[in-house]
Amino acid sequence: MNTKSKELYKEGQKHLVGAVNSPVRAFNSVGGNPLFMERAKGSKIYDVDGNEYIDLVLSYGPMIIGHGNESVLKAVQHQVEKGFTFGASTENEIILAEMVCNAFPGMDKVRFVNSGTEAILSAIRLARAYTGKNHIVKFAGCYHGHSDALLVAAGSGLATLSIPGSAGVPNDAVKNTLIAEYNNIDSVKKHIAECDDIAAVFIEPIAGNMGVVIPSDEFIKELREITKQAGILLVVDEVMTGFRSKFGGAQELLGIEADITCLGKVVGGGFPVGAYGARNEIMNMVSPLGPMYQAGTLSGNPVAMAAGISTLSELKAQNPYDKFNAQAETIEKALLAAAETNGIDLTVNRFGSMINPFFSAKKITNFTEAQECDTDKFTKFFWGLIENGVYIPPSQFEAWFLCSVLSNEDMNKIVAAINKAMALAK
Ligand SMILES: *Cc1c(COP(=O)(O)O)cnc(C)c1O
Repeated sequence: MNTKSKELYKEGQKHLVGAVNSPVRAFNSVGGNPLFMERAKGSKIYDVDGNEYIDLVLSYGPMIIGHGNESVLKAVQHQVEKGFTFGASTENEIILAEMVCNAFPGMDKVRFVNSGTEAILSAIRLARAYTGKNHIVKFAGCYHGHSDALLVAAGSGLATLSIPGSAGVPNDAVKNTLIAEYNNIDSVKKHIAECDDIAAVFIEPIAGNMGVVIPSDEFIKELREITKQAGILLVVDEVMTGFRSKFGGAQELLGIEADITCLGKVVGGGFPVGAYGARNEIMNMVSPLGPMYQAGTLSGNPVAMAAGISTLSELKAQNPYDKFNAQAETIEKALLAAAETNGIDLTVNRFGSMINPFFSAKKITNFTEAQECDTDKFTKFFWGLIENGVYIPPSQFEAWFLCSVLSNEDMNKIVAAINKAMALAK
């Protein structure tokens, strides 16, 4: 059933580190052989052995309108014909910038980069440049990419590998990073009281990298309030949530506005794009208008911009957000019912098209609680879903993603697979 994946995994280890180019793909936390994929279309993905799965990974978020959407495909092909990259400006960048700024009220200007990580590390520099301060606050369990300063207490990939930070990050690189607890406003207030050198607080507005964790209304609103009062920038990392729970970001749904917003994933429609943006007074700090340097040979790549423009246009026209909520609710009910039938403790967190089960009886509101889950049960459940044709991220600490082309038939298959997999997790 997965002969070819096994062969490729063995072969891949010779010249690739662990046969992967990103560690979550290595299936370390669920054991067994990682799947090698060959192609994908719509809501389905196919591995090299020809097995078909309903894809609830969606490349960890970008493929929100499903794989191989016809109009995106056409836009990309059209641009490829005209040229891959010019190292000069193109109209596509202006079009995508306008779409992004219109979707996020707090953004007057945006800079495109090549990944979420790059957007975040640029936002750190920008916050420091704008405020003239050095410290940054992050929340345990939030992941903001792999830049040195934020690679502490950083959620899924690291939680899964049980690495406290990372080797090779000098103490100096994290000495200005302060850790707070998600949903605990006092843990932020304490830092603000003790340190008058804080440039910014970084947050995932809906955490997705410790599993889905939702901020309480008071917590997120108070966070906005106290940072504003203290002259600290609030950097909202919408790399995962941008365009996912509504067209625009989680900010409007939560009733807050960021000082700097970071994007990635969906904004590139499956191509490597990240972005950071803010109001004019902040963005005008960035070179060539201001003194903060940040550049990129392939930034604003015309093919990637074409994919982003057509993906966002499709998404806006489809407006699948009510459907996402309804389908996520169906999945939540199926998970809870199957858990009850099998006497398994389960909590489900969801927000829009992000959802995941935690194998725990408790409510999960922060990283400490997330880590108390029964990961052995998750592992059995994961392989049960794979055997029944549903592909989810190979970690208890990752969100599942829904795409807009999930059919009723797909939903029935997902529910049936959940029932079978939960029985195996007992
Ligand atoms: C994925 C992710 C990143 C990193 O983006 P990359 O494109 O993988 O570098 C940063 N922040 C959040 C919230 C993410 O989900």
